[in-house]
Amino acid sequence: MKLYIIPQLHIPGCTNLSPAGIIESVKLLTNTNNSNHRLQSLRINGIHSIKKDDLETLENLMMINRTKKERNKIFYHENDAAIDRNSIDVEVCPKCEQMGIVFDCPRGCEYGCRGCEMCTRRCAECGICIRGDHDGELEEASCAYALCLKCWLTIPKCCFCSRAYCDEHACRQLHRVSDSSAGFVCGGCRSRNPFENPYMYF
Ligand SMILES: [Zn+2]
Ligand SMILES: [Zn+2]
Ligand SMILES: [Zn+2]
Ligand SMILES: [Zn+2]
Ligand SMILES: [Zn+2]
Repeated sequence: MKLYIIPQLHIPGCTNLSPAGIIESVKLLTNTNNSNHRLQSLRINGIHSIKKDDLETLENLMMINRTKKERNKIFYHENDAAIDRNSIDVEVCPKCEQMGIVFDCPRGCEYGCRGCEMCTRRCAECGICIRGDHDGELEEASCAYALCLKCWLTIPKCCFCSRAYCDEHACRQLHRVSDSSAGFVCGGCRSRNPFENPYMYF
């Protein structure tokens, strides 16, 4: 019989799982007496029923001593792999005290912007906090994300509304004028003015 070793449990957004059920599973996957499982990675972001106490139980089971030093930084613009640098993806947001993925500021921010996505707006391109002062001026992307002014200046913008797409959604740019051009028509403007020629405004 083949023994399977389960090193990870990734169940983000499974909102109908109960904290008790997750704790039971983690107990099973960390019990060294009757199994070979060594759970090393747990992803539970979006399961809002998990409370602070539950998280502490999970940390104890996984033998995580979560001091600030032990926690690896996660930046907003990084991909999913960044989240895996920590054994458990979520922590208690220092601002709203809700459970979530807490992002750090890549510019080593003195503003205390460390917080979840809801508490601190961040640039989708470089991950810095956007505060509306002049080095972190807010520019809206055509998608739901925000961009800092510096990143906004360097990426292509819609000919109509001057909004930019973040890198992740650059493929949604419609009617790019040419590969090297700074202009395109964003999805929103395209659907508002389906028959108009964007260049008539120039
Ligand atoms: Zn928060
Ligand atoms: Zn910051
Ligand atoms: Zn930026
Ligand atoms: Zn537009
Ligand atoms: Zn985007």
